[in-house]
Amino acid sequence: MSQLKVEHNVSLAPLTTLGVGGPARHLIEAFREEDVIEAVRLAKRSDLPALILGEGSNIVVGDRGYDGYVIRVMTSGISEIGSDAETVSLTAAAGESWDRFVSLAVDRGLAGIECLSGIPGTVGATPIQNVGAYGQEVSQTIERVKCFDTELDHVVEIDAADCGFSYRQSIFNSSRHGRFIVLSVTFRLMRNGRPVIAYKELAERFGGKSPGLAEVRDAVISIRAAKSMVIDKEDPNSRSVGSFFKNPVINEAEFDRIRSMRPDVPSFAAPDGIKIPAAWLIENSGLHKGFAMGRAGISSNHTLALINRGGASTAEILALRDHIREKVAETFDIELRQEPVMVGDQA
Ligand SMILES: Cc1cc2nc3c(=O)[nH]c(=O)nc-3n(C[C@H](O)[C@H](O)[C@H](O)COP(=O)(O)OP(=O)(O)OC[C@H]3O[C@@H](n4cnc5c(N)ncnc54)[C@H](O)[C@@H]3O)c2cc1C
Repeated sequence: MSQLKVEHNVSLAPLTTLGVGGPARHLIEAFREEDVIEAVRLAKRSDLPALILGEGSNIVVGDRGYDGYVIRVMTSGISEIGSDAETVSLTAAAGESWDRFVSLAVDRGLAGIECLSGIPGTVGATPIQNVGAYGQEVSQTIERVKCFDTELDHVVEIDAADCGFSYRQSIFNSSRHGRFIVLSVTFRLMRNGRPVIAYKELAERFGGKSPGLAEVRDAVISIRAAKSMVIDKEDPNSRSVGSFFKNPVINEAEFDRIRSMRPDVPSFAAPDGIKIPAAWLIENSGLHKGFAMGRAGISSNHTLALINRGGASTAEILALRDHIREKVAETFDIELRQEPVMVGDQA
């Protein structure tokens, strides 16, 4: 049995990109899969809840913190586990940096995740909300996910087809929320694949030319940096959890209603309806980039990013969230849904 090092009363704010929230009652840093599993069992034996933490780039911790075990997944390792003429399968440990993994794939000339460059966080968190950007989602390349099943107390492999992936959703954050701890993820990437240029902003950069994977990676990172969507300690606008709101997907009737009010509403076809940019809704509800409410604010570079302007409490961030939601509901009668995960007591 492994010897776990348990720390007590550890501030969680520095372990998140938003930098808000109170302490964890207990914190364990797990560097091996066995330690992750052992830590989960320890929490269960102690009759306390367990929170799995990656790089904290998609969570908002309550001001009172987390009254249980926070298990920080710090496992590492990337290996090739199979290949054929067209594809290579790579398995990455849950604690690996996502962007390191993307960089390695691009360096090896493997296509499929290049547009997901610059996204903060760990590999293990990517299936949770089916991470996506600039026309790619991890669901397009995930082959399977190795998990610890906390209900059955054993390790399982879940094929991508059984992960229930859709826009910012999977079984891991919906129907089976909290049941599975991701230990590693296997991606099937294309040899000599062409990069995906599905996004207007990206296409404009290349003006009809056909760029390589590395050029696309660099372009994505530079577009993201201009919006403070890469973590940069020198950039106060990047003290966020990325997009705080999902783009609402509405039905035809609702879309007609909005269009009758505002014929200029932008929209995109989605598998289950019509997607409207949340940023457009916010900007057209009287709010704007750089808007501040105390120590919380809207990023000056990205309408969807709520930022900690320095020393903010979670309560201040949530007050701003609620204000934005109310304005959008008042103006368009649309409810904005939050993207990041709320952790602990929010009071
Ligand atoms: C500047 C910025 C830009 C961003 N841009 C994007 C973007 O373009 N697209 C996008 O989709 N997201 C984006 N995000 C959100 C975030 O980066 C992703 O959701 C990322 O995958 C979270 O990884 P993490 O390791 O930080 O997870 P955490 O924030 O630590 O955890 C997030 C959730 O996943 C769970 N979790 C984490 N690891 C595991 C595991 N091993 N097993 C089970 N559950 C786990 C946690 O319990 C929690 O519920 C952005 C965030 C920031 C700060």
